[in-house]
Amino acid sequence: MKWIEIATGYTCNSNCVYCARLRDPAIPAPERKELLSYLIWGRKNGATGAWFSGGEPTLREDLAVLGMAAVKLGYQEIKMQSNGMVLSYQKALERYVQAGFNQFNVSVKSHLPAVHDKLSRRPGAFEMAMQGLKNIAAMNLHLEVDFLITSLNYTTLAQSIEFFHKLGVKRFNFWYACAMGPNADEIAAYVPRMSDVMPHMAEAFQTGERLGLDLMRSYHILRACLESGKIPFQRSQAGYVDHESGRAGISAGIFSD
Ligand code: SF4
Repeated sequence: MKWIEIATGYTCNSNCVYCARLRDPAIPAPERKELLSYLIWGRKNGATGAWFSGGEPTLREDLAVLGMAAVKLGYQEIKMQSNGMVLSYQKALERYVQAGFNQFNVSVKSHLPAVHDKLSRRPGAFEMAMQGLKNIAAMNLHLEVDFLITSLNYTTLAQSIEFFHKLGVKRFNFWYACAMGPNADEIAAYVPRMSDVMPHMAEAFQTGERLGLDLMRSYHILRACLESGKIPFQRSQAGYVDHESGRAGISAGIFSD
């Protein structure tokens, strides 16, 4: 299906060590009318899925309004990409579901609380994110996680998969830490060697396949490295087309998955 991904702004209630949003924290959040124009553009170009990302989209007061607008425009799948902390509040989650959100993609760093909180640079982040995952699973909604591979979590990938599967996660999206932007030197300390990671990733894939999970690997991971671990290469986000809004840093784009 075709998706439009819309970055709703770069503010966040977390402060992850590897965050690309730190490249320019001064970029102001787009106004609602700008985001609505992206949604209209997406439908005109055949998108039936609307994917709201950030920053942290739940920090926008009008996120539910945007979800309702997406429903009105005919989007069938409406996804929120979140760090899960606000979703730990049941009433907040219910509000988004009533507005039309039916898919949730939560960023997790490990099944180990200390690792998650250290990478988030926010004590208590793990506990809140886990409560968010439990709330989503209890409502029987589509639940997937973004898992960014770093030097702190790559040796326990298989255990993380087991843990999050038990919480009701259906899909894992593996990403790889990239040392880029103004804090590239700091991020570099958390980027592991791909050759060290691949045996653990291969083990994680065997675990995920045994559990019947959907496993997506990002284009950040080199094809040769994946194949050295006998993990088939996968093209993700095929045919990505950016919206030409002319507004630096805030993006919307259409792709197929
Ligand atoms: S949760 Fe996402 S947007 Fe927020 S700091 Fe972490 S990586 Fe950045």
